[in-house]
Amino acid sequence: MTTSADHKILGPNDGPAAEVVNPQGTAPICLVCEHASAFIPASLADLGVAPEHRHSHAAWDIGGRDLAVALSEKLDAPLVASRVSRLVYDCNRPPSAPGAFPERSEVIDVPGNVGLDDAARAARVTEVYDPFRTLLSSTLDGFTKSPVLVTIHSFTPTWFGQPRSVELGLLHDSDDRLARAMLANRPDDLDAQLNAPYSVTDGVTHTLREHAIPRGLQNVMIEVRNDLISDAAGVARFTDILSTMLTKALATQEAT
Ligand SMILES: [Zn+2]
Repeated sequence: MTTSADHKILGPNDGPAAEVVNPQGTAPICLVCEHASAFIPASLADLGVAPEHRHSHAAWDIGGRDLAVALSEKLDAPLVASRVSRLVYDCNRPPSAPGAFPERSEVIDVPGNVGLDDAARAARVTEVYDPFRTLLSSTLDGFTKSPVLVTIHSFTPTWFGQPRSVELGLLHDSDDRLARAMLANRPDDLDAQLNAPYSVTDGVTHTLREHAIPRGLQNVMIEVRNDLISDAAGVARFTDILSTMLTKALATQEAT
């Protein structure tokens, strides 16, 4: 019989599973990036993923961390980010979701996730998901004024061969206030849409549900098409766009 104690995923030099960037940030905004890292600890032997796919959108949100860090600086807001690939554990999924340990992502196989036993799953929850969740909870507890919760993601421009035209998605769960307020403040030249390229019915709003809605915090999940933030100029452009949209949305709501 094996137990979770038999599995050691993160090694002594791997660092923590999650981090807070700009913990002293003063804005009442908590940024979150669940898919910030493509890091797969050596103990998992790349999960058998082919070298050309280890830094693909399957492993992380391309450009997501760079954008989230830049927004954290610009808005002066704390950012909670995962430091482990979503292929090890997807921190935007509950442990019960099949996607928490994906065996396949779009067209990319993840052999190291096939046939995981309960102990292996429990170890990933204990070593990756729980520290992320705890860090996000304690960061939210640390705000003196109730923050809004904003998660930063990117999506691939083609999905199963189909191009996606949407450039920016604003996704919501049961509380749509912030997503709609941001959409109302979008630039004219941007293809921004509500609940695209996917939505709550795809099971992507776990963090909003787990951390924002029970606390009554306004929240939004932001999805940027990753070809638009694949270099520094693109990140800078979307840092300006999103910080402006968010700031205007929050000002509008305070005024009403
Ligand atoms: Zn993501």
